[in-house]
Amino acid sequence: MKMSTVEFAGHFANGFTKEIKDFATESILKEGYDCLIVTDREDKEKAFCTHCKKWVKIPGDNLHTGSPRYLREEEKRNAYYCHAGYGGMPEEEIERRKKIQDHKIKECPSCGHAYNVYHQWRMDMGWLDGTVSISVWAKSKVDPAAVVMRRIEISRHFGGSAEDVVKDTFVEAERYLFRMGHKTVRQKSEADWSNKRQRMIRRKRFVKRIADRAQCSSNTMWTDYVGGHYRMDVHSLLEAVTGTPYQYLLYNGGSYVNHYDRYAFRDSYPLYIVNYMDLYSLHPWVELLIKNGMDNMVMDHIRKRGCANAICWGAKTIKSAVRRFTKQDLKDILDYNSRQTCSRDHVSETDLAFLAEAREKMFPRMDLISAVRLSREGFGILNRLYDWSKRLGLKPEKVLAYCLQGKAGRYSHAMGDWLDYISDAACIGLNLEDKANVMPQDIKKAHAKVLKRIKYREKRELDEQFKRSMLLRKRLFCWKGTDYFIRPAESAEELAAEGMALHHCVGGYADKYIRGETNILFVRSNSQPDKPLYTLETYKVRGAYIVAQLRGNMNADPPAEIRKMVESFIDRVNSSTLLDIGKKERILIA
Ligand SMILES: [Zn+2]
Repeated sequence: MKMSTVEFAGHFANGFTKEIKDFATESILKEGYDCLIVTDREDKEKAFCTHCKKWVKIPGDNLHTGSPRYLREEEKRNAYYCHAGYGGMPEEEIERRKKIQDHKIKECPSCGHAYNVYHQWRMDMGWLDGTVSISVWAKSKVDPAAVVMRRIEISRHFGGSAEDVVKDTFVEAERYLFRMGHKTVRQKSEADWSNKRQRMIRRKRFVKRIADRAQCSSNTMWTDYVGGHYRMDVHSLLEAVTGTPYQYLLYNGGSYVNHYDRYAFRDSYPLYIVNYMDLYSLHPWVELLIKNGMDNMVMDHIRKRGCANAICWGAKTIKSAVRRFTKQDLKDILDYNSRQTCSRDHVSETDLAFLAEAREKMFPRMDLISAVRLSREGFGILNRLYDWSKRLGLKPEKVLAYCLQGKAGRYSHAMGDWLDYISDAACIGLNLEDKANVMPQDIKKAHAKVLKRIKYREKRELDEQFKRSMLLRKRLFCWKGTDYFIRPAESAEELAAEGMALHHCVGGYADKYIRGETNILFVRSNSQPDKPLYTLETYKVRGAYIVAQLRGNMNADPPAEIRKMVESFIDRVNSSTLLDIGKKERILIA
């Protein structure tokens, strides 16, 4: 049923009590907006204190220190430079800043507070104008179980005349009503200039959304985008909820309020408290979650960091809300949380969502503690473990238990070690039907053994391949003339020796040569068969061998007759019927 404006208004107190005004003054205005204003050029000892709103006499020359806003900026810069050890700041600048600091604070003889001195004629007073917000809480005037909140905007105007130096205007901008079993009712009061007389009037209207100022709730920012700085009266909140169902907000030593302290929500728009009260109004079972040590989950949900499918937040009862979990799970959560020193390590909604999904898809009997540990590693590695277990015809639970036995550190390491081992073992054809091979006693040792065999096998395969390609090369590339002969290099060592003797880089081709990716031939004189003379690289381009490189000592080009001789040799190789041997015998050389 829709609430009438009159009924709604009945829950709220009107006007601005002394407590409200005091809170505004103490929490924001005193800090950032109050100052001592000197209005008379001739008599700088006469000043107006904007805090106690009295004319006072301050002895001394009372230099102008700038507006509070300017000084706030200056302070920030100073803090930055102090932090950086004044590195790089010029001497004069340091002096200037110190002088401002010295002159800055003057004590008001009436109220005793210290403020900046401000010469009225030096600046436009309008610069000091500003709007701030506070929120104050109270019990409802008609419903003892309901709680209300008001957001009040305070505009400060620094008028020009001596008699009216500073004026504060209090305007109520928002009202919230929280009742058990009902959706939160929110009313906004907005400035409206669109009327006939073009005069500002305030319109009140109900708003469905209760959280449109989320951007204000950050721990580094306490600026209210509507009106400057923002403060919430925490004491009024504590008083308002006491004795109402909402007092569970304070359960466990006021954990929610502590959340505020920790994340500096107190300075900000109380978005999370508003969201919590709204959630709790419709779902009182949230109290049981909090009492059972799941307050983190509630907080995650409110801060929209949770996982939608772990707890059913729309449920009517606690039973249906946590229906995906057993009693033992809930006991485990309590148990686990009580053992953590920091509430950040408590079981989160993400952990629970992980548990539910893991049980559904892979591990029907997974327990909560494993889920908490595993959820922080993610699903990827668990999926691989599951796949391998299935491939090997093993129960995934058994493999998981084997991996995690006695492992205190990161679970992903234990699982990763096994996955690396098992894929390598499969690669060398280890008998994986033997349980001792699948789940070895010492996985590190077993893996080292497998790796050794892999390296040995690789080398053996390469040797085999080289031997076979050498047979083909010898048949293809051996030739003997009257003065010179040509033959392929026999080994990597021979290549290195050739490169060293002729001072060129052919030694670096050994790897390619062994793998059959190119061919290196020696051109030598018949009279001195062991003396390196010219080195020839040849490989096939579009089915025919070419002279890729022919180099002598220090990469020198050979004489024309040698080049001619080599070219006609390559022509003969290309016309040879031996060319097809490689294909038939499945030996591939470049
Ligand atoms: Zn004063």
